[in-house]
Amino acid sequence: MTLEELDKKYVLHTYARDYTNFVKGIGSTLYDEKGRDYIDFASGIAVNSVGHGNEKLVNAICEQAKNIIHISNLQVIEPQAKLAQKIVELSGYDMGVFFANSGAEANEGAIKIARKYGETRFDNKRYKVITLEHSFHGRTITTVKATGQESFHTPNFSPYPAGFSYEKNIKDVYKAIDDETVAVLIELVQGEGGVQPFEKEEIQKLAAHLKEKGVLLIVDEVQTGVYRTGEFLASNLYEIEPDIITLAKGLGGGVPIGAVMTKHKDVFAPGDHGSTFGGNYLSTAAGLAVLDILSELYDNGSLHEALLYFEKKLQEIAAEYDNLFEKEVGLGLMRGLRAKSAEIQGNVLKNALEEGVIVLKAGRNTVRFLPSLTITKDEIDEGFKRFEKAISTL
Ligand SMILES: *Cc1c(COP(=O)(O)O)cnc(C)c1O
Repeated sequence: MTLEELDKKYVLHTYARDYTNFVKGIGSTLYDEKGRDYIDFASGIAVNSVGHGNEKLVNAICEQAKNIIHISNLQVIEPQAKLAQKIVELSGYDMGVFFANSGAEANEGAIKIARKYGETRFDNKRYKVITLEHSFHGRTITTVKATGQESFHTPNFSPYPAGFSYEKNIKDVYKAIDDETVAVLIELVQGEGGVQPFEKEEIQKLAAHLKEKGVLLIVDEVQTGVYRTGEFLASNLYEIEPDIITLAKGLGGGVPIGAVMTKHKDVFAPGDHGSTFGGNYLSTAAGLAVLDILSELYDNGSLHEALLYFEKKLQEIAAEYDNLFEKEVGLGLMRGLRAKSAEIQGNVLKNALEEGVIVLKAGRNTVRFLPSLTITKDEIDEGFKRFEKAISTL
């Protein structure tokens, strides 16, 4: 059986998969089984934040694995406590952290905090959560319902939990708030929805309004967090102080981890929430190494240089190929080219892989770029050389 046959026979068909078999990665270059190399502008959907085969991360994982991989959360876990401290310190917010294993699970935790807050802090029960159109918050039954895309709310998985609604724009959120609203859950840059950043002023105004109304602001930073936008959190870039923030993708450098952090540290009591795997030795040791690597890149200015260089390259492409692309969108190293049609988007993706550069799609017509945050100038140059070759014939 070929690998493709094996996969099709035994793995459930939930993905429209490509069957290139990657066997090794170094930095932002991936190699398939035939030895062909690809520049990785996707980093496993913003997960491989420090690239492939990063020595410091690999060593941290190996060293931790030799000692303890996992014990339960019934015991204290040293790297977990240290990672929580590091996340809180880098964020600049006075918060506490709960560790989960994925983005959806982090958002579930955020919703549970909000719901308990709404149950216990007011005379009436507050439970409604407002989200936005084109958002993406995960694949569990609750987080698909929180996701503001009708196609996710198929009757196949109904009934969904009550208390979720989504609004077309931020300005509609104001009108939607009532005395049962407990929280507004948003991404500051909608990732899956099309790499669409919100205006800073609009977000600051909303944050101030929610504070005044006693409605919690939950920011889903599963994709934007951990330096993706150039700051540790997009919330730092937008200069807001959310009540609850969720993280996941880039935090473990590829080891599954999610986190929910909140300034309402006394909402959860023992027994309210938990996870068997969440925050275990392996994932939090990985997270510590990732944050060491990235905070150094941030402090010495090389992260900023990389994102300026990437942005410049992308703007040049957008300007030169205005027959294919409307504009360049995004923030930091979370970028996109808005294609003039879904067909162009599809062809760009297909040709790019053939030319040896991996990019992603987002929304209906956006070609998405989520390179590793450690990507070098040479890798950026090579990737765009291949990308240009891929689109020059379209
Ligand atoms: C990817 C993503 C999620 C879901 O994360 P999983 O780890 O796949 O559960 C949630 N929110 C946002 C903004 C994401 O980008």
